[in-house]
Amino acid sequence: MALRNILGSDDPALKKHSRHVADYNRRLHILLDDMRETLLEANGLGLAAPQVGVLRRTALIIDTSIESDDPEGQIVELVNPEITMCCGEQTGNEGCLSVPGVYGIVTRPQQVEVRAFDRHGKPFGMTVSGLTARAVCHEIDHLDGVVFTSLAERFLSDEEIEMMAAERRAAMDRDAAAGREGPPATGDEPAANDIKLAANDNKPDVSTEGH
Ligand code: ZN
Repeated sequence: MALRNILGSDDPALKKHSRHVADYNRRLHILLDDMRETLLEANGLGLAAPQVGVLRRTALIIDTSIESDDPEGQIVELVNPEITMCCGEQTGNEGCLSVPGVYGIVTRPQQVEVRAFDRHGKPFGMTVSGLTARAVCHEIDHLDGVVFTSLAERFLSDEEIEMMAAERRAAMDRDAAAGREGPPATGDEPAANDIKLAANDNKPDVSTEGH
């Protein structure tokens, strides 16, 4: 596995439509392995192949509903993903590993049903909500050349970002005091996600991090 460079949103690759994956071969597996390492290193909640310069419909998300001591155990690989159902609405903070330091308020579905293929070409479906639904929508947008900044109804001020960071630090301190190790399992204080977000579904406050 190797770390890949995460492109900034000014890179033309982030504006392009990615192509369908036809071959579930070793090349795809190397891409997915490298993306996993890159996502974990960046402490994100998701990463799409165009963010590492590969215009193929492939993305990773951290599914915070999966119980695991380790974020790697929460990674879901999505090849040729499609959203087949959306319901509800959530409005909250979102960020992106390709747009460091910028957070915006974005409205997304509260729940989505996704169909995708695994790295071996086996189809599967999943229904996710809250933060994970936001991450899925954010990553699939990347496959269509859409960056969250074009969807944000407004961007957070420096003061709001500082408050968000302070809340995150306080949450981490609480976790430490409780003897909890590792990243929060709830997704309430996500690390960065490709998406960084606020898990708080209706308030433009807090959260943290993104891709
Ligand atoms: Zn992103």
